[in-house]
Amino acid sequence: MTGVLLLDHSGELGGGELSLFDYAGTTRLPVQVAVFEPGPFFDRLEEAGIAAELIAAGSVLNVRRDNGIAKVLGIVPSLTRSILALARRMRRAQLVYANSQKALVVAALANGIARRPLIWHLHDIMTATHFSGTMRRVAIGLSNRFATHLIANSHATEVSYRQAGGKLPVTVIHNGIDPAPFADVDRSGVRAALVRDAGIPEEAPIVALFGRLSSWKGQDVALAAIAAVPGAHLVLVGSAMFGDGAFEASLRRDVTALGIGDRVHFLGFRSDVAALMTGVDVIVHASTAPEPFGRVIAEAMMAGTPVVASAAGGAIEIVEDGTGVLVPPGDVGALAAAIRHLIADPVAAVAMAQRARATALARFALPVATARTDAVVLTVAPGIVSGRT
Ligand code: UDP
Repeated sequence: MTGVLLLDHSGELGGGELSLFDYAGTTRLPVQVAVFEPGPFFDRLEEAGIAAELIAAGSVLNVRRDNGIAKVLGIVPSLTRSILALARRMRRAQLVYANSQKALVVAALANGIARRPLIWHLHDIMTATHFSGTMRRVAIGLSNRFATHLIANSHATEVSYRQAGGKLPVTVIHNGIDPAPFADVDRSGVRAALVRDAGIPEEAPIVALFGRLSSWKGQDVALAAIAAVPGAHLVLVGSAMFGDGAFEASLRRDVTALGIGDRVHFLGFRSDVAALMTGVDVIVHASTAPEPFGRVIAEAMMAGTPVVASAAGGAIEIVEDGTGVLVPPGDVGALAAAIRHLIADPVAAVAMAQRARATALARFALPVATARTDAVVLTVAPGIVSGRT
């Protein structure tokens, strides 16, 4: 019986999965990752040489965030088989760390048998905007009964967890960001490649939004704002995930309706976000619901590129003391004004971004977040011996 079992339900590369990837790659503790479905996340773990395995979770993967009690009860038969299999696997670990809500639900049920210390790393705001009442009650109830400790990715997440009835001890750990891919990037080279590949005029201001295409991530707000900033081009980096496919089609309709087809560029999912961030003039975060953390905001700061973010949730904890511009969520006029202002005064914008880069390197350094996570793990399971397997 050795080490930490890191569990995530998703095969996709959302922010929670990228955070787990970073932790698994830098912790001093012996860890093994298990995911419930194959996909880019699993592939990336394997490519990086991080020990990973697939665990069959049955139809729990078909439950959506807004499902009610009937759907949740409908998965019980296949879930029972998964729980038994997972309980056997959990017994071989000293501690189990569930990195997503579905992983938490299955791990908590299996923990009725396995009886291991169980940490839930919560990357979500537990409100009706994001989850049905059933989903919240199931996850919170099971964690209160079968988990040991909660790591929240922001104070906003922690508050929502408490308001939803969560009773576990909580440690807030903001995501760490690996500074390496942001160092020594040839900014003008990246910009030149982007301008060439996307067909953007050399002198046009380039505004970018990084994030999966999802209704609450606010790409529609960014489109409306860019329509009000003549000459500026908008680059959307990210793809639809977690069943959000229809939104991309509606964004493309918005582009046509706004008549900005020549100024908007869909780049899809990219693995070179850090470099791309250094090659644009302004990065916007336009989420219309409170962001649990908002890795893209911390990354934009680390890139030293001026950032505008929606003033809600984790974003307020990231953008402090004038290191970015905060605008009310969903306020197209305020977002457009902030973009215009940054473009009009590049000297002030760059100065703000340089302050932001220094702040991000100090506050969101990956080694610090990893060490803090290791400390929580060792508090919950002191018997784990440092050193990779
Ligand atoms: N990301 C990426 N490629 C893309 C778009 C986004 O690697 O094309 C990354 C981005 O750099 C960030 C993460 O996806 O690290 C998104 O995390 P965030 O906390 O902003 O949002 P979430 O997806 O967790 O809601």
